[in-house]
Amino acid sequence: MAEAYAGIRFDAAGFVKGELPDYLLQLAREIEAACKEVERAGLARGIAGNLSARCAEGFLITPTGTGLANVLARDVVLIEEFDFEKNVLKRALGRRLPSSETPMHSLVYARMKKVGAIAHIHAELDGIPGVPITESKLPYGTRESALAALKALAGGDVVVLRGHGAVAVGSKIGEAVAKIINKSA
Ligand SMILES: [Zn+2]
Repeated sequence: MAEAYAGIRFDAAGFVKGELPDYLLQLAREIEAACKEVERAGLARGIAGNLSARCAEGFLITPTGTGLANVLARDVVLIEEFDFEKNVLKRALGRRLPSSETPMHSLVYARMKKVGAIAHIHAELDGIPGVPITESKLPYGTRESALAALKALAGGDVVVLRGHGAVAVGSKIGEAVAKIINKSA
């Protein structure tokens, strides 16, 4: 069984509630469209899963506590600064708090400069042939889980998080989503 959702596991001290600036809406709409793709593929389970895309200020990510099927462009959250070592969201703007997997997205963008987008879905996967898998089952939204995902991503653009789901990276969100659908659906 996938782990039950129990809220974000980072300190959201720097989160500011507000509207995304208009110039970021185009990218936010791409994320909304990608969320719908995930749903059409049957991979949007409950409130689980999250998508993000890099932007000049940092990255845009889907909000927490919302099923991908219901994510609207205006609900996407801008992450400008996340301190992975301290597990603190330092600067962010949006209508709702960002995804509980913000630490993982933040770590991947910081360490993998060519990655422009990340897709993460939940599925009870014990492995996909030819796809790297993390060693052990780890709680979602934690530093340990983020570090394990990063390590696995050294072996491929799509990885399985044991007992949790899958993560794919790409240059654009449409590409990351296509990769994850291709391997998981
Ligand atoms: Zn997850």
